[in-house]
Amino acid sequence: MNKYVEQVIKDVRAKNADQPEFLQAVEEVLETLSPVIDANPQYKQNAILERIVEPERVVIFRVPWVDDKGNVRVNRGYRIQMNSAIGPYKGGLRFDPTVNLSVLKFLAFEQVFKNSLTTLPMGGGKGGSDFNPKQSPHTPGKRCSDAEVMRFCQSFMTELFRHIGPDTDVPAGDMNVGGREIGYLFGQYKRLANEWTGVLTGKGLSFGGSLIRPEATGYGDIYFAENMLAMRGETFEGKKCVISGSGNVASFAAEKLMQLGAKVLTLSDRSGAIYAPDGITAKMLKDIMVLKNVKRGELAEFAKKTKAVKFFAGKNSWQIADKIDAAFPCARQNELNGKDAEYLIKHGCKLVGEGANMPSTPDAVAAFLKAKVMFSPGKASNAGGVATSGLEMSQNSERLSWTREEVDAKLKGIMKSIHDNAWEAAAKYGHKGNYVMGANIAGFTKVADAMVAQGVV
Ligand code: NAP
Repeated sequence: MNKYVEQVIKDVRAKNADQPEFLQAVEEVLETLSPVIDANPQYKQNAILERIVEPERVVIFRVPWVDDKGNVRVNRGYRIQMNSAIGPYKGGLRFDPTVNLSVLKFLAFEQVFKNSLTTLPMGGGKGGSDFNPKQSPHTPGKRCSDAEVMRFCQSFMTELFRHIGPDTDVPAGDMNVGGREIGYLFGQYKRLANEWTGVLTGKGLSFGGSLIRPEATGYGDIYFAENMLAMRGETFEGKKCVISGSGNVASFAAEKLMQLGAKVLTLSDRSGAIYAPDGITAKMLKDIMVLKNVKRGELAEFAKKTKAVKFFAGKNSWQIADKIDAAFPCARQNELNGKDAEYLIKHGCKLVGEGANMPSTPDAVAAFLKAKVMFSPGKASNAGGVATSGLEMSQNSERLSWTREEVDAKLKGIMKSIHDNAWEAAAKYGHKGNYVMGANIAGFTKVADAMVAQGVV
């Protein structure tokens, strides 16, 4: 490894010893950049690596709100404004009890490279709170009511609004932040700022949202995988696929796979995994979407009512089926480990398309690369969501709404560009077919060049 890269990794470890997810993400990227650093001495001269691992700004704030029983509750809110070299900060908000500074810095760091890969002018950011909409603070086993979620969102935005803006920072959704939450957040922003601007993406269609935005991350993941398969002259027709998660990314990845003639064998959530040996049908998927998005229920309930699926309580999707062509981790970070990777490889898996952010542990990634599995890292293959958010920003600026077909065609084109750029960058530096290196190098170079051009800021 290049000595400069080694030194920066050492310094990041010393400075951020209490942030394991952030360290994992930084090491994963920096370790692949040696050939670019060797070939471009200006990056070291301008301390690009030291600067790119340091957020431009971190905001941490109190979020007080009142629950349905009249009790005052307090959560912690965050916004990480990581890098604005190529555009306003852009990245989702996550509401989950696992949210902390380390998780959000890892996500913001990844977002910088992902947004650069989309070819659109967007910097990187991420934010959220340790608020848990899935657990009422006063009634065990119940979720927060809509009114509680609204009061939380309004309080969260009351502080966040002064740090964001359509040309400064444009947040979107992430885990547990979907259309309902974005609506409440947008309403409060509009009220406080006294202006209607496209300050959030993932909005409802009646107030500036883009068609295809909900589908974009899942669809984009599969479009990227289609491009990988095409390099080997293959298609998804008849392929057996396993997916983890059953939220936004997973459900639309499943929908696109089915449309392309693949069989989706599994989905999962916190309660466990469902396995349909003959494939999940379109009707089952529709019911699951209603269960997860409207009734906000668990797959365990779905399995009880559906004879065609088997349920594996507490398990993820990986070690269930015995013949697998492709796997799509679409739930959360570090959800697919080395043992899962070995199982998948042993059972025929030739392609892994990460829909979630950093879902594969480093030993799983190493196993896939060693076995020559076509492996796309999340920052490349899940970039369709933020790319379509970029398209939503363009539509808001133009005061126009594009058709479903227009947005889908643009999304497909962007996923092909990301694929081709990653492929070419890997080949240029002698690692043909390695999408991990290709995505990191292509994403990094654009941001690094902009940082050099803008001086020491
Ligand atoms: P989501 O709609 O909230 O779905 C998350 C899914 O993961 C749910 O099925 C959830 O199960 C499951 N899950 C979460 N924590 C789990 C745990 N500890 N054990 C087992 N299952 C767990 O979120 P999403 O928007 O689909 O995001 C999924 C991933 O994609 C995240 O890594 C996110 O950062 C990434 N991503 C999302 C987008 C986007 O546009 N939404 C864009 C790029 C990347 P429950 O339903 O039981 O909670």
